[in-house]
Amino acid sequence: MTKKRALVTGVTGQDGNHLASLLQDEGYEVYGLIRGQNNPKRAEFEARHPHVRLVEGDLTDPAALIRAVDLSDPDELYNLGAVSHVGYSFKNPSLTESVTGKGVLNVLEAVRVTGRSERTRVYQASTSEMFGGLDYNRPGAGYDEDSLFHPRSPYGVAKLYGHWISRNYRESYGMFVSCGILFNHEGEFRGPEFVTRKITQAVARIARGMQEYVVLGDLWPKRDWGYAGDYVRGMWKMLQHDRPDDFVLATGETHSIEEFLSLAFRTVGIDDWTPYVKQDAAFMRPAEVDILLGNPAKAEEQLGWVREVSFEKLVELMVRHDLDALAGLESAR
Ligand code: GDP
Repeated sequence: MTKKRALVTGVTGQDGNHLASLLQDEGYEVYGLIRGQNNPKRAEFEARHPHVRLVEGDLTDPAALIRAVDLSDPDELYNLGAVSHVGYSFKNPSLTESVTGKGVLNVLEAVRVTGRSERTRVYQASTSEMFGGLDYNRPGAGYDEDSLFHPRSPYGVAKLYGHWISRNYRESYGMFVSCGILFNHEGEFRGPEFVTRKITQAVARIARGMQEYVVLGDLWPKRDWGYAGDYVRGMWKMLQHDRPDDFVLATGETHSIEEFLSLAFRTVGIDDWTPYVKQDAAFMRPAEVDILLGNPAKAEEQLGWVREVSFEKLVELMVRHDLDALAGLESAR
């Protein structure tokens, strides 16, 4: 039997790393789109995933995407590439619009103009940032696929364009395009610019006496935090489903940054974290999403998706990983 083929954009990112492993375990031939000259993530990714074939190209370059789709001839295309950080998107709004928004159109067009509308199934990485967390717009049981959108950042606005253009290609051309509306998902591959990883790396260093304190922004916002490894399985299940659709992946629990923080410090035996945390407006945003809570009932019922890692386990897993990484560095010296 010939192997299924998948093309993953954003393959060197957090979800790309998890998904590349999953697809390989499922027997796929995996292609990954990689951006830029001298991409610093390339060597690390190649060492971790020697069987993934990297194809050069940028989401803002339609011809490069057409070449990548032609070369990989994918059964499934996972569009994970994006300018993905909310804070960064306020400082680089135009770039975010081009990559995170219009990049989706470029991907869909690459599939369509190469005559693969009926063959290639597309996963679009939509996000809970499209909801915005405002009072008037906050359902009790959590946001679901029918909730109102009110994005609160250039990132959220660009992702909403990506979401709607994906739905439009589904409706206009009958393409199999599914959107996963994923709530925050974290883990050992999370970038240090996100608050969870910033905290767990700092906690590990503080525990080892290598850092005095960590500087954060607001501690009251709440997020529905899950484990990225669980979420990429949901993405894959969306493309194995009998029809294209939109699905929320979330835990159905919400926790403040302060809760994450105190749990992370407790993992290393520190009960009072206050001496180790400072706050600075530099890490606060022009508009904040106060609270995110998702309702994953549809994905659970229709896809049989289950979340295995709890909030407590997630915090522990990340702190332990960062402690081990420091121990590895020390023994290599
Ligand atoms: P987001 O939910 O996609 O924006 O993920 P982040 O991990 O970047 O931010 C989660 C929440 O943590 C947001 O409400 C931020 O405002 C808040 N936050 C507080 N301090 C920090 C910080 O130092 N860095 C980041 N990235 N976020 C912070």
